[in-house]
Amino acid sequence: MPNLFTTRQSIGLLWLRTAVALLICQHDPVDATAQAFDAFGFDRAVQQEAMGYQWLRWSSEHIGHRLTGSAQGARAEDLADSLFRASALPVVSRFPFAAQAWSRGTIQLTVNDPTGAWHVQAVALANTPLEALVEAPIVDAGNGLPADLDSVGDRAKGAALLVNLGLIGAPEGARNLHRSEKAALAMGRGAALLLFVNHVEGHILLTGTASIDGALIPVPAASIATEDGKALRERLVRGEQLTARLAMGNQSRRVSANNIIAEIPGARVPEEVILIGGHLDCWDLATGATDNGLGSFSILDLARAMSAMEVRPERTVRFVLFMGEEQGLLGSRALVDEYARSGELAHVKCMINLDMSGHPQGFGIAGPQGWGDLVARISKEIALVDSAAFAGTMSEEVWLHSDHQPFLLRGVPVIYPLSDLGKHVYGCYHSSCDDIHLVDPQAMVDNVRFVGQLVYRLASSQALPPHFTEESLRARLIDAGLEQPLRIGGDWPW
Ligand SMILES: [Zn+2]
Repeated sequence: MPNLFTTRQSIGLLWLRTAVALLICQHDPVDATAQAFDAFGFDRAVQQEAMGYQWLRWSSEHIGHRLTGSAQGARAEDLADSLFRASALPVVSRFPFAAQAWSRGTIQLTVNDPTGAWHVQAVALANTPLEALVEAPIVDAGNGLPADLDSVGDRAKGAALLVNLGLIGAPEGARNLHRSEKAALAMGRGAALLLFVNHVEGHILLTGTASIDGALIPVPAASIATEDGKALRERLVRGEQLTARLAMGNQSRRVSANNIIAEIPGARVPEEVILIGGHLDCWDLATGATDNGLGSFSILDLARAMSAMEVRPERTVRFVLFMGEEQGLLGSRALVDEYARSGELAHVKCMINLDMSGHPQGFGIAGPQGWGDLVARISKEIALVDSAAFAGTMSEEVWLHSDHQPFLLRGVPVIYPLSDLGKHVYGCYHSSCDDIHLVDPQAMVDNVRFVGQLVYRLASSQALPPHFTEESLRARLIDAGLEQPLRIGGDWPW
């Protein structure tokens, strides 16, 4: 390994290393083996030998999207399996699950007024009907929150509701709902058709599930571009009577898919597990390079790095690439159900979820007392390696709709990297532009550098705080304002 450091930098590194050692000794949180972990050596090797971006680029060019249940999805599973094996992970396995997989067919949207009809570009949301032909008057339902639907009142019945995916002009503090939750609310008010208006400019269309539980919804739902939504609204404001006519044909079939799992067995307490996961699957409008190539291929690279450096922490580190996330957390729900049935869930000390993460600046934590302090302390240690790239920011925000959710709802503490990927990336979320050009290779390298250290330090901490108790979890979810969305989704455990 070439030495890239000047003498001055070496002295600086030496000083920092001593500081790290002192910090670790002061707190005495880790045992002797963990202290042998060379944080600077790990950091250097990760940067010099990184493979995540190359692997993701290859996958984007040669496999394309990774939709669960498609031929491409199966090839992505094989690729992940092969990469874990090529990286010499001691244990590699598949967790098969069966799922009903939806895929898009044709869609045609026309808007009619008394003088004629014109086409509007639209994309079907997932889990929408297999065959539908609906004609209905267009009614503006704003942001689609309960208050918006209240003000629409009876006009929602039998209407084609125009609903924003984002929040526009919402009252201060208003919390957005997931599109599937908005769909559930609108269907509850009797809507016949749902037209979701994208919030990103540039005629960009978005997909994603419209179903809270993965089952097909009875009402057709599609997304339209922000520019088209604006034009429709301007005409409605002028008092024009507009009718939407939407025809769609989709497919749904029972498919089998596999979560791909690898692990490094713990040296001292192999039965205790630090689980790091992220979804490998993605939508089919592009190649899912950021959602979630960023997370899943960073996990593959982290596994490679830990294996190559023969890192052997006290606890088992388990790397899980989930499939079926986009269709409704299918792979993570199946795995958590199995873990709960077998008792394995009690051994999963925490779940670290990488979903669209890059250049992590710190970590968010949803855990009972003790977890925040532990992760804050570890973050300080990580920042000593490169405080310019990793600030050690902390958040206690709890969010839903990614693979950590089934773990969290069973009381498993959840940790996630805090990322800010920029508007150009978030604007392409679930859209036709989520491709490799959006990926900064260094964002992935930084995932491996900083999440890797977190994983190692958690896996080697002498003691870890407990899971949530039922009461503490309930209180935390209510505090985070998640009771309503979880109830709408049928996931509220109480
Ligand atoms: Zn995602």
